[in-house]
Amino acid sequence: MAFLTAARLQERGIGSSLDQDKEYVGFATLPNQVHRKSVKKGFDFTLMVAGESGLGKSTLVNSLFLTDLYKDRKLLNAEERITQTVEITKHTVDIEEKGVKLKLTIVDTPGFGDAVNNTECWRSVADYIDQQFEQYFRDESGLNRKNIQDNRVHCCLYFISPFGHGLRPLDVEFMKALHEKVNIVPVLAKADTLTPTEVKRKKTKIQEEIEQYGIKIYQFPDCDSDEDEEFKQQDQELKASIPFAVIGSNTVVEAKGRRVRGRLYPWGIVEVENSAHCDFVKLRNMLVRTHMQDLKDVTRETHYENYRAHCIQSMTRMVVKERNRNKLTRESGTDFPIPMVPGETDAETEKLIREKDEEVGASACTAKHRPPHSLQTEQTVRPSSDPPPDPPDPPCEPSLAASPLTPAD
Ligand code: GDP
Repeated sequence: MAFLTAARLQERGIGSSLDQDKEYVGFATLPNQVHRKSVKKGFDFTLMVAGESGLGKSTLVNSLFLTDLYKDRKLLNAEERITQTVEITKHTVDIEEKGVKLKLTIVDTPGFGDAVNNTECWRSVADYIDQQFEQYFRDESGLNRKNIQDNRVHCCLYFISPFGHGLRPLDVEFMKALHEKVNIVPVLAKADTLTPTEVKRKKTKIQEEIEQYGIKIYQFPDCDSDEDEEFKQQDQELKASIPFAVIGSNTVVEAKGRRVRGRLYPWGIVEVENSAHCDFVKLRNMLVRTHMQDLKDVTRETHYENYRAHCIQSMTRMVVKERNRNKLTRESGTDFPIPMVPGETDAETEKLIREKDEEVGASACTAKHRPPHSLQTEQTVRPSSDPPPDPPDPPCEPSLAASPLTPAD
């Protein structure tokens, strides 16, 4: 009993002076209850890293989470890379800090941009993200929804080469193909190879190109108006830092009597965690300390919700088509399917689909409203006669149509 905190005592209605207060009902302890439950359950986060090989992806991931996630990595030689297709690899580690457990999954995309012909090399990455959504959709539509394994990708760090002049066509293609499926956070790799002026110039150029090509990268949520000035200032700086200029290192070096994670050069030491040298700390704070939950929320409320809406739409179309076909067969009194009368049947089908679209649209609209991504939700309520939007319809197997659709959220 001696170990119970005041909040726990209040939760249990024991011994608190507040309990005697008639004004006090006790729901003020709700945050404590949620906190305890979440800590007990543990957290999970899935981070994808993408960008051409050699840009320092694995080094950065190891530096971010102070682990060695790439122990068994096999590097391909030039010949093997000529026809290299993009592979997707997954590493999971359980890390614990002050009693809080985090199951961290890193999804890597070796081979991306490495082949001689890189046409559509983003497709396997997009397919992977869709497959995770599909799996989750199946699981939450199934009977046992208690222990669903959530492998949806919450964030994609996209590495931009420091050696080009802004974005390359492949960067634009990749980000445009994936921006409606995952939260993209662009990073400027190997920032120690650039002078501060070059970093500044490159960042401005990349920001302009992101705007120009209509790429929807992850948008940091706006600060609440009652936040203090210091917090607002930090938030502004964070938004202005995109793309984060990063440096990775797996070695600890000695700098001015201190042992730091850094890179030792003949002319000096570059410190990974020194904010005068790069944005590593900003990126890590954003990913881990300040925005991890928001990245998960946007994944669930916007990207997954879009996927789900598309899926339900295609399933509804299939069901309606099937129903119409059966109806016609019954009415004709023959087992042979008769060609449909295009005008009438199409109109009826379209009406039914429109009704379903509106229903789906209404549910998708409840997803958190954010300016850049709200567009995606709008797409889900497009007139049914329109062709599907840019990314192809997610793979929805016919078998799904038969499963009871009672999503968990
Ligand atoms: P990946 O193929 O994208 O995973 O790249 P790696 O992490 O394997 O790094 C490729 C090479 O770049 C290695 O020799 C690293 O030591 C080096 N490297 C990694 N990060 C940096 C960095 O921030 N700056 C510089 N100059 N080199 C780096």
